[in-house]
Amino acid sequence: MNIHEYQAKAVLKAFGVAVPRGVLATNADAALAACAELGGSDSGESIWVVKAQIHAGGRGKAGGVRVCRSQQEVREAADALLGSKLVTKQTGEAGKLVHKVYVEEGLNIAREFYLSVLVDRENECISFVVSPAGGMDIENVAAQTPEKIMTIAEQPTAAVCRKMALFLGLDEVQVADFTRLIESLYTTFQAKDASMIELNPLILTTEGQLVALDAKFIVDDNALYRQAELLELRDFSEEDPRETEAAEFGLNYIALDGDIGCMVNGAGLAMATMDMIQMKGAKPANFLDVGGGVTVDAVCEAFKLLFSDAHVKAVLVNIFGGIVRCDIIANGLLEAIKTHPMRVPVVMRLVGTNEQEGRKIVKDAGLDVRWADDLDQAASVAAHAAA
Ligand code: GDP
Ligand code: MN
Repeated sequence: MNIHEYQAKAVLKAFGVAVPRGVLATNADAALAACAELGGSDSGESIWVVKAQIHAGGRGKAGGVRVCRSQQEVREAADALLGSKLVTKQTGEAGKLVHKVYVEEGLNIAREFYLSVLVDRENECISFVVSPAGGMDIENVAAQTPEKIMTIAEQPTAAVCRKMALFLGLDEVQVADFTRLIESLYTTFQAKDASMIELNPLILTTEGQLVALDAKFIVDDNALYRQAELLELRDFSEEDPRETEAAEFGLNYIALDGDIGCMVNGAGLAMATMDMIQMKGAKPANFLDVGGGVTVDAVCEAFKLLFSDAHVKAVLVNIFGGIVRCDIIANGLLEAIKTHPMRVPVVMRLVGTNEQEGRKIVKDAGLDVRWADDLDQAASVAAHAAA
């Protein structure tokens, strides 16, 4: 789960990380009021920064981060951003609607760094990634100037922190500050079950202070049950509505960008089904594992989700009945079409527990379903139907 920048900064601040002072605003008046709260004057000396709060980076280049030199500019920036759609490199073409802006005190930037801490699956540990080329797209830095990135796959001891600080070009006095920052980040990361915390940029101000100017924070979904405070920060308006709906019914669903809707039981079989679809030259519209203890209601919701998805051109049902009974899947389909007609071809491969009952229910209802005996055939038929 992702949280907003302003929320991430509040979490980090509580753990001792220096962040700019800021005020959240949902309308232009509130943004103007934020200036007074943060202090500063219209003399031209003060800077405020208005930042669109969306679950995506790349805002700076897309006009979602406005550096303002007067309170009137702050009001105008907030007015322009709120209610607008921001299209950044990370949002996709559809963009993201801006519901909130964060107004911050402007800081004087001497240098910008990149710093992240993440669950490093390859090295099976928590790793730090640092770069003196901050504020930029880190993927580009990695591709063009890999020597400017250092990955540290070890415990952040004092010696390790020092190594990172020197790589960033910090001086002796700043090494101690940097070490404290890393300790705070590492503590936050573990206490909050993060899977990634990224500060891009982490800045050194002209006054010599290290401040997290931007913050991205991803929490491990599997730990949300014990992170009640973070769970409260969830912003459903930022998430795919299809995934939100699926989650309500306990379905493991992930939206993808292909056109074959998948309904499968078991994560492994769902993965294999997606692979098979790709092998037939088509693309899955989603990952869906209906799970073991699935009910007719949940199956019904799953079918509705697939049928109401405009991207879906064919549906592939691949059920290997064990604990899941094929008749439950068939009855779920019958329930779903009461409100969501089968507007696309449905290919069914039903085998295992209550296979005959399942097929009979569908056939007796007179549904135009294409039957397949095995996954290979099912994927071929579905790919063909969607083409
Ligand atoms: P992102 O583009 O979504 O990653 O948004 P960031 O929060 O990283 O902001 C993008 C850029 O805006 C930063 O790299 C800075 O160059 C600039 N910026 C953000 N806050 C300030 C500030 O307080 N003062 C100044 N001068 N620039 C800022
Ligand atoms: Mn950034």
